[in-house]
Amino acid sequence: MFIVKVKKERCKGCKLCIDVCPVKVFRISHNFNRMGCHYIEPEGEGKNSCTGCQRCVMICPDVAIEILKINRQGGEDEDRSNS
Ligand code: SF4
Ligand code: SF4
Repeated sequence: MFIVKVKKERCKGCKLCIDVCPVKVFRISHNFNRMGCHYIEPEGEGKNSCTGCQRCVMICPDVAIEILKINRQGGEDEDRSNS
């Protein structure tokens, strides 16, 4: 299982991650960040159908996405972000 985290203050709302995600994890928030952008947020409060493919991490121009792999005990055992 994977947890998807978005650093909302880095996100400029370009939607590249929405387009690239094969399981449609992301949605655009109605709220604005401090840059005045509608930022992206993952569905399901961070727990969703993410497969850990890393496409969103690779395409995000602002290094705003982290993918964390959850171990069987429920802990975060692998940081797969590019930050
Ligand atoms: S690709 Fe990055 S900057 Fe663009 S909307 Fe997604 S998280 Fe935000
Ligand atoms: S790692 Fe892959 S499946 Fe998970 S949110 Fe990113 S693009 Fe979607």
